[in-house]
Amino acid sequence: MLALNGNRQETAPMAPKESAAPAANVFEVAQQQLYRAAEVVQLDPAIRTILSQPKNELIVNFPVRMDDGSYRLFKGYRIQHSNIMGPYKGGVRYHPHVHLDEVKALAAWMTMKCALMEIPFGGAKGGVKFDPRQHSRDELERITRRFTHALGSNIGPNYDIPAPDMGTNSQTMVWMMDTYMNSAGQTDKNALRGVVTGKSPTSGGSLGREHATGLGLVYTIQEWAAETGFNLDGATFAVQGYGNVGAHAARILSRMGAVLVAVQDHTGAIRNTEGVHPQRLSKYVQTVGGVAGYPGGEIIDRRDFFSTPVDIFIPAAMEMQINADTAPLMRCKLVVEGANGPTDLDGERILADRGVTVLPDILANAGGVTVSYFEWLQNRRAEQWTEEDVELRLERMMQRAYATMRRLREERGVDNRTACHVHALSRIQAVYHERGIFP
Ligand code: GLU
Repeated sequence: MLALNGNRQETAPMAPKESAAPAANVFEVAQQQLYRAAEVVQLDPAIRTILSQPKNELIVNFPVRMDDGSYRLFKGYRIQHSNIMGPYKGGVRYHPHVHLDEVKALAAWMTMKCALMEIPFGGAKGGVKFDPRQHSRDELERITRRFTHALGSNIGPNYDIPAPDMGTNSQTMVWMMDTYMNSAGQTDKNALRGVVTGKSPTSGGSLGREHATGLGLVYTIQEWAAETGFNLDGATFAVQGYGNVGAHAARILSRMGAVLVAVQDHTGAIRNTEGVHPQRLSKYVQTVGGVAGYPGGEIIDRRDFFSTPVDIFIPAAMEMQINADTAPLMRCKLVVEGANGPTDLDGERILADRGVTVLPDILANAGGVTVSYFEWLQNRRAEQWTEEDVELRLERMMQRAYATMRRLREERGVDNRTACHVHALSRIQAVYHERGIFP
């Protein structure tokens, strides 16, 4: 008999007590950012209303057989915020804290990110609430395939295109692609490769996608350095989160002579004012699971991490990390948001008061979705671009977006984040005005 154990639904473990201040609601922060820019562009109230909530919110509960033969129920989300500019687009996150408001916020930011970057996609985000670290490879495969099956025709290469995010990777995407392809008719199968992006190059992914977000981050830092006359050679930086984004950004920045002095992740924090070796740390994190205990640095606590003096601070982990509690500690010139939504409204105000520049998430981490767009194009055309070609195109697009932000910041007298949202909203508004709102 099928042993469906209803008690084994994944629940989030208690969040570690990270902050004295109550955590900001991440979706409200996303809404406030939108409203602030809406005022600047005098956004049509109807469009503001439409964009204030996602178009579709899909929640699925699906059973998966565990290695020990028991069954567990998982909760998965796919939030489709907007498809006015093109198919819904955005990552899938596997994390025990995934919840509806988080995925809604992340989906809304994807709409803004794609519109800012001028790539023909809308915005979406998905997630499954569980800790991938607690599962075997076989279990991860079954969870991914069952989730993809549960999403059914709510995704598709011309409708909604998932990608990796926190807790997922190219292998996850290949399983999603394979599951989706196999549920289509024999004759259409191969036209469906573009249902997800961030696949491995062997299975239809783009060269350069793996490190695209980290590289894009560095391109925006280079633009900022050129604008302000800052020398990256010898500059110091700290990274929060040593996953795909943080580790690649650290590796590429250090190649330019910048020195990584502090790193924090879910296991702890380390510091070495002489410099942490990014690749050695990556190897350590891959084998041990986190930065704690890394022999090339002293152990520090969270407050020490945030108060370490650096030129550049790169949050590349969870949302709402820079807040009323942590922002007053920070001693940096520049915050480059590798994560989505790492700064809450209090954090933002405090950084602004202290003269810290922020390169906002929808610009700074847009390298990932931009190369996802290249991957989708390559799939449609059955092409394989060279890594040099991908990087060159990415660099041009990041430079263009940075220049747009800079121009709007100066013209409108707003901060960088608002300038980025202003460009995104203006483009979305122009489309609504031409097409009208049906019916
Ligand atoms: N998850 C990434 C992001 O937040 C990439 C999304 C994509 O490639 O579609 O931008």
